This record gives sequence, structure tokens and C-alpha cells, in this order.
Amino acid sequence: MALIGAVLLVVAVVAWVLMPVTKGQHASLERDRDELTDAEARRRVALLALRDVEYDYHTGKLDENDYRALRSELSAEALAALQALEDESTGARRAVDAELEAEIAAVRAGLEAGTTCASCGHVNPQGSRFCASCGGALAAREVSPSS
Ligand SMILES: [Zn+2]
Repeated sequence: MALIGAVLLVVAVVAWVLMPVTKGQHASLERDRDELTDAEARRRVALLALRDVEYDYHTGKLDENDYRALRSELSAEALAALQALEDESTGARRAVDAELEAEIAAVRAGLEAGTTCASCGHVNPQGSRFCASCGGALAAREVSPSS
């Protein structure tokens, strides 16, 4: 009886472990915004390794020649990663530029409608009479009820 219980337990555990596979679940290929990029990960690894090399050298675990060789190798790697990171951020900067353009357009539209706050620059929804951010009175055109 105990054997049957054990077998059932094993079957249950295996089924539970395989559940994502049998259900066809898989990790998303989309990169999360906060996930490290390749270049950033490489840079961090190189810098951590450099720190370890420094530590090992100063604690006497590494001799002068090994230290110099490792340090120049890791420095080159960190520099290469930094270069790659810069290339990546050029693309990111373009995306930020587009975002800024959209924001500027929104502020401009708000200024034309009189809903952008003159004192803090907050873009308020259409028909607002006071700023939702600082509470200041807006120069918004009155929506005439006669129309
Ligand atoms: Zn305001």
C-alpha cells in the first residue's frame, strides 16, 4: 500500500514538473524593458572580473605577469562592451527622440487649446479650467454653452 502511495506521489510530481511542457507553455522571446542587454551584461561581467583580478593580485593569489595579462584582456573586453552599449543606446536615443516629439506635439496642441498650464507646463485634458498638476488657473477658452 505504501508502495502505491509512493508511485502515485512520483507520478504526481513528474506530471507537475512536465506541466509547462505538456501545456505548450514557453518563455516569451520578447525582451523586457528592464532586462539587461547583451552589451550591458558583458560590461558588468568584465568589470566584476576586473575587480576579482585586482583583489586576487592584492591578496597575493596572482603574480605580476598573470595580473597584467588578465587586466589588459579584461579592460579590452570592458571597452568593447562599452562600445557595443553605445551603439545600442544610439537606437534607444532615436526611440526617445520620437517619444519627445510626440510629447512636444501634445504640449503644442494643449497650448493651442489653452489647456497646457502656463506655470508648470502640465498638459490638461480638454475643457479643464484649472491645472491638474499645480492647481493654477488655465487660460483655457471657455466652452460656450450657446454653441
Ligand atoms: Zn500647472
